[in-house]
Amino acid sequence: LPEEFIKARPIIDTIEAAGYAAYYVGGSVRDTLLGLPIHDVDIATSAYPEEVKALFKRTVDTGIEHGTVMILDHGTGYETTTFRTESGYQDYRRPDSVKFVRSLKEDLNRRDFTINALALKTDGTIIDYFDGLTDLAEHRIKAVGDPEKRFNEDALRMMRAVRFASQLNFEIDPETIEGIKHHGPLLTKIAVERIHVEFVKMLLGQWPSKGLDVFMATGLYQYCPDFKAYQEQLNHLRDQLKRGLSNETAVWTLLASVFDLSWKQVNQLLKDWKSANQLIEDVQVATQAVSAISNHSVDDWLLYQTGSELLTIANEVAQQLDVFAYETPDLLNRYQVLQIHSKKELAVSGQDLMSAGIKPGPQLGQALSFLERQVVENHLNNQTQELLSAAIKFLNEKA
Ligand code: ATP
Ligand code: MG
Repeated sequence: LPEEFIKARPIIDTIEAAGYAAYYVGGSVRDTLLGLPIHDVDIATSAYPEEVKALFKRTVDTGIEHGTVMILDHGTGYETTTFRTESGYQDYRRPDSVKFVRSLKEDLNRRDFTINALALKTDGTIIDYFDGLTDLAEHRIKAVGDPEKRFNEDALRMMRAVRFASQLNFEIDPETIEGIKHHGPLLTKIAVERIHVEFVKMLLGQWPSKGLDVFMATGLYQYCPDFKAYQEQLNHLRDQLKRGLSNETAVWTLLASVFDLSWKQVNQLLKDWKSANQLIEDVQVATQAVSAISNHSVDDWLLYQTGSELLTIANEVAQQLDVFAYETPDLLNRYQVLQIHSKKELAVSGQDLMSAGIKPGPQLGQALSFLERQVVENHLNNQTQELLSAAIKFLNEKA
């Protein structure tokens, strides 16, 4: 067993010693069997939340109403969830009620896909009620039970199916695909933030075209914010993408570039997808850089405005799209040799300009912006005397 499971073993041992059952479950079991690295170890147990809390000194109620208690152990947190069934799902997303049960099988039965419904004992035994091992061996994503019913219960599972396809390079079972075809419209009932998470994970997966293929073929894309108008571009992306993107900024920069969005349209798209403001700004800047890269018009001012991190992302996106791209070191070398990399590095400050007799006010800011650009573009050396004279000359000519 991987080290993470061995480290978590005392938790399970403690629960079992008290007479309850406990297993490793979820993504970590699936990924271990696939030989992939694991992130978080999830534990499922027959003990009720209060019973779990009574067994450990330090716990946090991370989601106690649905049975999840985090156990803190030497700086690591382990999410422990009581076996439960769910019922209701009147809103196509959250169960109306969860019921704690003592049966592992009932708990595994509520899980989304067979490969995610495996349990592992500390002795290495696998519990597999739904042929998850076969599906794992045959690289298949298959809903537990009737896909129509499962997507009707929780529409987010459709997005999870396409994201696992892209992360694992698995095929989605034909009946599960049919289920997605029939239930796509229910995606509009799901919080955009949750769709966002799965969509980004899909494009970060190593085989993004695999997920995009089903995303497009089932029509699922139409029920995501703003995507309906971009069928052609999304299909192009499906055919074009060779590997996963390296981070979320790259994902949205790629989309903005393929959709050919203006600065303002990027803002709208990302607002509709409920993105953070920092992400929006970064994508706007990086998208502008992709366009400059593809036009062979990367100048020093653009390098300066974009910065090394977003230049790397823009170049990665340009490469994926087969529009012109630089060798990344070339682009970064050109950036590195700029005289300054931020306004703070200018050899004069606003204070210096005022000491030289320039009055505070808008023209002070204009003078600084003028110097910034002149230095970035190498028309002036970043030296105090030279910049002071240039500022005075600039303001005299303006007056
Ligand atoms: P990852 O590696 O991305 O964490 P994961 O399979 O662990 O993948 P999680 O979202 O962490 O995914 O969920 C943990 C487990 O909970 C899943 O493996 C699955 O058994 C169950 N699960 C999660 N979301 C759902 C859902 N919407 N419907 C049914 N079961 C779910
Ligand atoms: Mg997980």
